[in-house]
Amino acid sequence: MIAEILSVGTELLMGQIANTDAQYISRRLSELGVTLYRHTTVGDNPARVKQALCEALSRSDMVITTGGLGPTEDDLTKEMVGEFFGLPMELDEKSLEAVRARMCRLGREMTKNNNKQAYFPRGAVIMPNECGTAPGCIVERDGKAVAVLPGPPREMKDMFERQLAPWLRKRSGEHIESRFLRIFGVGESKTETVLLDLFHGDNPTLALYCGAGEVTARISARVPLGADANALIDPMEAEIRRRLGNAVYAAYGPGEEVSLASTVLKMLMARGETVTTAESCTGGMLISHLIDCPGASAAVHEGHVTYSNEAKMRVLGVRAETLEKHGAVSAECALEMAEGARRASGSDWAIATTGVAGPDGGTPEKPVGLVYVGIAGPDGVRAERLMLRGDRDWIRTLTCQNALDLLRLRATAR
Ligand code: ATP
Ligand code: MG
Repeated sequence: MIAEILSVGTELLMGQIANTDAQYISRRLSELGVTLYRHTTVGDNPARVKQALCEALSRSDMVITTGGLGPTEDDLTKEMVGEFFGLPMELDEKSLEAVRARMCRLGREMTKNNNKQAYFPRGAVIMPNECGTAPGCIVERDGKAVAVLPGPPREMKDMFERQLAPWLRKRSGEHIESRFLRIFGVGESKTETVLLDLFHGDNPTLALYCGAGEVTARISARVPLGADANALIDPMEAEIRRRLGNAVYAAYGPGEEVSLASTVLKMLMARGETVTTAESCTGGMLISHLIDCPGASAAVHEGHVTYSNEAKMRVLGVRAETLEKHGAVSAECALEMAEGARRASGSDWAIATTGVAGPDGGTPEKPVGLVYVGIAGPDGVRAERLMLRGDRDWIRTLTCQNALDLLRLRATAR
């Protein structure tokens, strides 16, 4: 089944609200095995709603609309669906009673406008609204279907899950399952090149998205209802891991939150180890990323922000000679920062960051984007030199990502 989404609302076109309804429905359709071809947005204008419906149904089997279901004059989506199919609007007594009961409960007066909410195109399957007033409906004719959902996200989601999803599940007879792989240290174009032939498959399919210095690969498999999609997904995951090695740092399902920080934290927790940070250019961002993850207290010991040279010496024991001879942005300083933080805290691991985040402060020898990350651990202390590109914020974000990844690789190599 091929579907389209038609979002109705002038607020959407004017940029006053973001189209989160379409985002939600899109995600759910893909999970339900319904192929989605287009999103269209029109204002609260009956002629344009009807025209958009007409166009969408000439291409697709089904249109899902949101918005324009309320009691007011400009809420005309349902009426336009009736007109499109040439079906008269008929009163549904049960819905009228439900609207009346709700208005009464809310202590509001029932107006003539409210009656409108109980009228549907003849033969429509009515979807009661458990979270609001306006019911939705599904109208089917000549192999084409339109589902009309309310605009308010809470009402829309509830109606979608309780009523439309079961209807769609029956229709599609299959579902799509996805797994996500997170990749760090191999850029998007390199990843694409390495995996090129895997993109040509039809089932499962592979797609890439890029984030802060990292890439997410989505593997999606389409299987009949009740069948296990892992039989298709597992071999694809294994092949990607074979090609990209330990650049793949996590695999997870839809709705799960995974980041480098949460992965590192989980790894440390599993090993019963702790970490401390000593930050200069990242200014607390690194420790913050770690503490953002629930359960951080099990592995995070402490974080130091040592921005001045004086603080690097006093808190971390960096030597004055080191700073004089090599400067704060140097491998030598990063090593001493990490060693000092590990010593002071007694943690298993310490991560240090020092670099030129810009926009000023760069020199020919030490340009903006030059960063050193020091990692001290049970296997000794080492520093990595990074050359990062971007504005101040981006350089600091990438520094954190790289620092976390270096710790991940160091710890897993042990
Ligand atoms: P109501 O009964 O509230 O009038 P409705 O079904 O007629 O509901 P609209 O009038 O189009 O829906 O929108 C009502 C509110 O729902 C909007 O002000 C907006 O906050 C939210 N909304 C509508 N469409 C969307 C959308 N596509 N994405 C997110 N929110 C939306
Ligand atoms: Mg409205």
